[in-house]
Amino acid sequence: MNDLSSDVDVAVIGAGAAGIGAARRLGEAGSVSVLVLEARDRVGGRVHTISPAGFPLDRGAEWLHSADRNPLSPIAQNLGFSVHRRPPEWTTRLRRSGETVEAEADWIATREAQDRSRRRAAAAPVDRPLASLLEPGGRWNQLLDASSSWGNGAELDRVSVKDYVRYENSGTNWRLGEGYGRLFATLAEGLPVALEAPVSRVDHRGRTIRLDTARGAVTAARVIVTVPTSIISGEIVRFDPPLPEKVAAATGLPLGVDDKLFISLDNAFPGVEHNMFLVGSTTRRETMSYQVRPLDRPAIYCFLGGRFAAGLEREGEAAMFSFAAEELTRLFGNGVRRHIAPLAATAWLHDPWARGSYSYALPGHADDRAVLAAPVDDRLFFAGEACSPNFFSTAHGAYLSGITAADAALASLSAR
Ligand SMILES: Cc1cc2nc3c(=O)[nH]c(=O)nc-3n(C[C@H](O)[C@H](O)[C@H](O)COP(=O)(O)OP(=O)(O)OC[C@H]3O[C@@H](n4cnc5c(N)ncnc54)[C@H](O)[C@@H]3O)c2cc1C
Repeated sequence: MNDLSSDVDVAVIGAGAAGIGAARRLGEAGSVSVLVLEARDRVGGRVHTISPAGFPLDRGAEWLHSADRNPLSPIAQNLGFSVHRRPPEWTTRLRRSGETVEAEADWIATREAQDRSRRRAAAAPVDRPLASLLEPGGRWNQLLDASSSWGNGAELDRVSVKDYVRYENSGTNWRLGEGYGRLFATLAEGLPVALEAPVSRVDHRGRTIRLDTARGAVTAARVIVTVPTSIISGEIVRFDPPLPEKVAAATGLPLGVDDKLFISLDNAFPGVEHNMFLVGSTTRRETMSYQVRPLDRPAIYCFLGGRFAAGLEREGEAAMFSFAAEELTRLFGNGVRRHIAPLAATAWLHDPWARGSYSYALPGHADDRAVLAAPVDDRLFFAGEACSPNFFSTAHGAYLSGITAADAALASLSAR
């Protein structure tokens, strides 16, 4: 691995969605030298497409959320990616999990009522956890908690109401046939990215900023930090002088845990619809959500979150598969067992350069996103999904935050 020692106008730490967004914007400006320092041996970070069975699987981000407002939708279309617009039926079709049509309607009404009380509660001066809004002993409390573990990566007792309602969701969700990770890999082509170059220290005492990397020291006039909050709160990247307000903000915005298990489902298994969404259980917090034959593929995508996912990550892929196989047997009958086999599983909490899936705010910490995103001395800029005020936890939020940070870095350079 060659030594990277060099001096650039702008160094970007991390080549995930935010780092790619930032580097592309800096590249478009044309007038500045740029180097992106990435710890992994690949770009994309928490957006990563693999193909273990001949069709693409997104280990991380899969959906273009708020697709009608998502800047990556037109970019993907212009690049010739196939955009699938079929809306997902997330946690709506409970009849597929053994509930009656009436019970399903009651669940949907409860969910809508929860949403209204979350919005009301967010307007109060004091923040509180989402769990405080549950009806004591409510019939759907376990499923509401499981849904939070999928949506927020954490159970309701961990999540700030104020932050939760700041998330903007247009309700339109699209997918790319080739994979979201493939889009970011394409967007990173030609960018000046140094792989396997983890940054351990940002020394901003002098006139130029010095970055210590595993491949030598890089100096830069401006730095854009796009690493996950876990890397800042865990001080895997250290600042000198220290930035306690950033460490505190990152600690208030921990990464939740969400994982995916991909299972093959051979086409000989009869009787299940294609592109079907369903939940494993409507009465247990520890359950998975399933997409069966998504995009007509011979597969089941299983999604799990929160403490449950953290526990199964520790136990390993075989335990994940065994849990899913049990639930699928309850849903589809014993016959399904002969037709399924594990394909791949993620372990984002144990991934050393992610340490989780996406950020949520602890109760009382909704304003930490603005603290995290604020520049330091007009020389150190911060981006990444956790810095987004309204699209946090998403790939497009990360991408847009990278562009914002790049524009701020460019403006500060031209003011020199
Ligand atoms: C299971 C799962 C499902 C998801 N589903 C969706 C979805 O459907 N739609 C959606 O929009 N979003 C989804 N997300 C969230 C989305 O993937 C993230 O919000 C987004 O990709 C974060 O981008 P980022 O650039 O902020 O961070 P990252 O992607 O984490 O990028 C940061 C980069 O910094 C690197 N890095 C870390 N430490 C160092 C260091 N010390 N030195 C140098 N480099 C370092 C990392 O390797 C990484 O490449 C999902 C995530 C997961 C895990």
